[in-house]
Amino acid sequence: MYAELVTPGATRTVIFYAHYDGQPTDASRWTATKPWEPALRAKSFDAGGTLIPFPAAGTAYHDDWRIYARSASDDKSPIVALLAALDALRAKKIPLAVNLKLILDGEEEAGSPNLARVLAEHAALFRGDVLLTIDGPVHQSGRPLLFFGNRGVTDVNITVYGPTRALHSGHYGNWAPNPAFHLARLLATMKDADGRVLIEGFYDDVAPLSEREKQALAELPANDADLMRELHFAKAEGGGKKLVELINMPSLNIRGIQSAYVGAQSQNIVPTKAEVSLDLRLVRNIDPQRQVERVIAHIRKQGFYVTRAEPTNEEREKYAFIARVTSEGGYPAARTPMDLPVSRAVVRVVEEAMGAPVVKMPTLGGSAPMYLFENMKLPVIGVPIVNHDNNQRIGNFWRGMEIFGALLADLRW
Ligand SMILES: [Zn+2]
Repeated sequence: MYAELVTPGATRTVIFYAHYDGQPTDASRWTATKPWEPALRAKSFDAGGTLIPFPAAGTAYHDDWRIYARSASDDKSPIVALLAALDALRAKKIPLAVNLKLILDGEEEAGSPNLARVLAEHAALFRGDVLLTIDGPVHQSGRPLLFFGNRGVTDVNITVYGPTRALHSGHYGNWAPNPAFHLARLLATMKDADGRVLIEGFYDDVAPLSEREKQALAELPANDADLMRELHFAKAEGGGKKLVELINMPSLNIRGIQSAYVGAQSQNIVPTKAEVSLDLRLVRNIDPQRQVERVIAHIRKQGFYVTRAEPTNEEREKYAFIARVTSEGGYPAARTPMDLPVSRAVVRVVEEAMGAPVVKMPTLGGSAPMYLFENMKLPVIGVPIVNHDNNQRIGNFWRGMEIFGALLADLRW
């Protein structure tokens, strides 16, 4: 969806990007309220927040109240906050400093499969001076956040094979090849105990951070210890590096792993196959396809015969170690330099509006296809407003309106 508002006399054009779709939801798991009907709670659900009625118009809302509905925070509320900011500026007769364009993506959570085509077909519409993405959460400390890049992402799915039918582990257990062990051994070669990826070339293409970006990282609130307490684990990956530093490095993550059954469903068998799904986060300058090829080369180096298709019986008889490897593809990272005049101007306006320094991150951990806008020569800056736990906290909502209003009225460079 596209909209624009021309401001007489304005020389700069600011494009806002948001998405109105959400991740799929299982409505049966919403026991107290419904996903598509907003509900108000006195605190967050996790903190035991009770349901309260929406107050009458003109009555004050409390900052810690939360609105619950599917995707209320990611990414619907920033859209509402932007519209409310426009209404407020209009009511106060405060003119906009810029021309405004708005793109609302309805397929972001599905990887924006049509965004590239739409941008290419309507390139003239999307001409502007900066793209402000209003997706994503603020810093865990609660302080407002600006980010200047997104990680890219790609995936690798690996299936390793045993016998063509499950075998009794008593009769065959130390004779038939066990695919779960083969997969475990393969995965163990990919990362050391500190979380450093051992795949050759994995970190080779990483574009180094500028001095300004390093300085921004150094200024970030040190909250790793608090987060570890909140999440109850003893040791983080990364060999002592902070979370915010690691976000500027490529990652290799097991997002799911499966072979036969566990728990009450356990069976005494040698499984027929073992599967893993990996996601690879990318940073500036790493090509998604090349990164996938590095993983495949690593699998081959461990002695596996790699195939894209389900292996035939002939292949299974010929090769002791077979890995079927597929990838859905992905997209690269984006990063806008923090010392561009427009980058400095956005920081200045938001800090003036908040009356305090904001958290500035060279890269946000999550992925979004911002490289598409970067390819159109648009600097991309993230101005998220929602709380870090992705609940729609009312105080964040108000503050978001103030930030958007300030940007619309004051952004000059
Ligand atoms: Zn989002």
